[in-house]
Amino acid sequence: MSELKVFTTVKEMQAYAAAQKQAGKTIGLCPTMGALHEGHMTLMRAARQACDIVIASVFVNPVQFGPNEDYDKYPRQFEADCAKLAAEGVDAVFHPEPAEMYPDGYGTYITVENGITDVLCGARRPGHFRGVATVVTKLMNITRADKAFFGQKDAQQVAVVRRFVADLNLPVEVVMVPICREASGLARSSRNAYMSEAEKQAALVLSRSLRAAKEAYAGGERQAAALKAAVQQVLATEPLARVDYVDLYTYPALQVTDSVSEPCLLAIAVYIGQTRLIDNIILGE
Ligand code: AMP
Repeated sequence: MSELKVFTTVKEMQAYAAAQKQAGKTIGLCPTMGALHEGHMTLMRAARQACDIVIASVFVNPVQFGPNEDYDKYPRQFEADCAKLAAEGVDAVFHPEPAEMYPDGYGTYITVENGITDVLCGARRPGHFRGVATVVTKLMNITRADKAFFGQKDAQQVAVVRRFVADLNLPVEVVMVPICREASGLARSSRNAYMSEAEKQAALVLSRSLRAAKEAYAGGERQAAALKAAVQQVLATEPLARVDYVDLYTYPALQVTDSVSEPCLLAIAVYIGQTRLIDNIILGE
């Protein structure tokens, strides 16, 4: 296994990507914000399987955080991240400073304007998907990715990325990797580190609530209102949980629907104490 290469400048990253392309290699990109966990590793493994060269990015992107969000306290542990990436056989990691990505005079942003960023996390986090679309476009360009890997954990993000990749004719295949969970059912997330043990226990209510909806669906329930109510009912049993949203939309178009007659995303965002967690299932696939 070759050693993990670390690049902090756009120029170095571009030179590496150009050399790989020149040698006829396919490149897989896994964008992350670091504080890597097993969920991220499922992306790396999918990329390792599908591509000759795997490039991870570790960049806490300031542009996708709102003014009152957790940009400053977001966990940063780059050395530990590198050890995990090396153990998975990742070829290179791109780890720029914010000023490298957004130098003085920077002025170009990508916005998806067909409505899919107006719901779910897009509605609660104004500007979030503009920041995501901008940084992912830049990362795809810098790494010359043939394929890019994203988690279903952030299913709306996948829908947004697929949209701008298609709209801007970017030559990148977007791959969605299933949600990786702890044995308890808790979806793995860098933000889980914010929670106390008691809060982590309370957080199990998210996956439990989605399981209730999945069972209702398996039992024949198709009405959006009833499926959402099944989730709400379980969430209401946990005193530490404060619901941000429980919503159901067609997927990936994210259109309002009364019933599940095509693939639909049942997505939730719930505060456990100060920590905002998201989780989802796709029904009707
Ligand atoms: P983040 O570092 O949180 O921005 O996540 C980077 C990528 O890893 C995104 O595409 C996420 O959807 C994906 N990811 C994070 N957590 C999980 C998980 N539990 N299962 C699958 N993918 C995940």
